[in-house]
Amino acid sequence: MALKPPSRLVKTVRELIYWLYAELIARAAGFEGNYGFVISRYKKLKSGEMKWSSSIRDRQKEWEKGKVCVYCGATKNLTIDHIIPVSRAGVDPRVRNLLDSSDNCVWACKKCNSSKGDRDIFEWYGKERVDEIPKLVISKFLKISYKLHETQGTLDLEDPNMDGVLDIYDLGVVITHLISKLSVEPGKKV
Ligand SMILES: [Zn+2]
Repeated sequence: MALKPPSRLVKTVRELIYWLYAELIARAAGFEGNYGFVISRYKKLKSGEMKWSSSIRDRQKEWEKGKVCVYCGATKNLTIDHIIPVSRAGVDPRVRNLLDSSDNCVWACKKCNSSKGDRDIFEWYGKERVDEIPKLVISKFLKISYKLHETQGTLDLEDPNMDGVLDIYDLGVVITHLISKLSVEPGKKV
């Protein structure tokens, strides 16, 4: 989140997800903000030399150790938080199923969960605090985003929300709103 993706390398939703994932790997390895490190991981992810699902799975296990609120560390009054609210699913049942799956769920205490309410993770943290979003949450968000876009056939779009830039606001559930706005049949390539 900290580095601006180089526009010559990162042009599509798929590439942006890889880039953010590479940043996450850098963050987890103590190389946060190291451009060269991020670019090398990005290239490995893109070429398939590095498998993103397996590379993060081990780290994810670590992060998931213990049942605590992923946002504040509280151990009491835990509830299940949907990173992207299920209410945002729109009309496509496949999207609803994805948002209902454990891929989209983390433990959150009652206080954090009700503070977040019906917002997605980026709306809740806001642009200024985006770097404070826990690694596990980003990791799961990127995975669920990838699956959402894969389902909709939109991984290779360059600016799904058509605001002139490719950024985190082009990921997540934004695409389902776009598709329902355009009245495109679910699953149809756009
Ligand atoms: Zn909490």
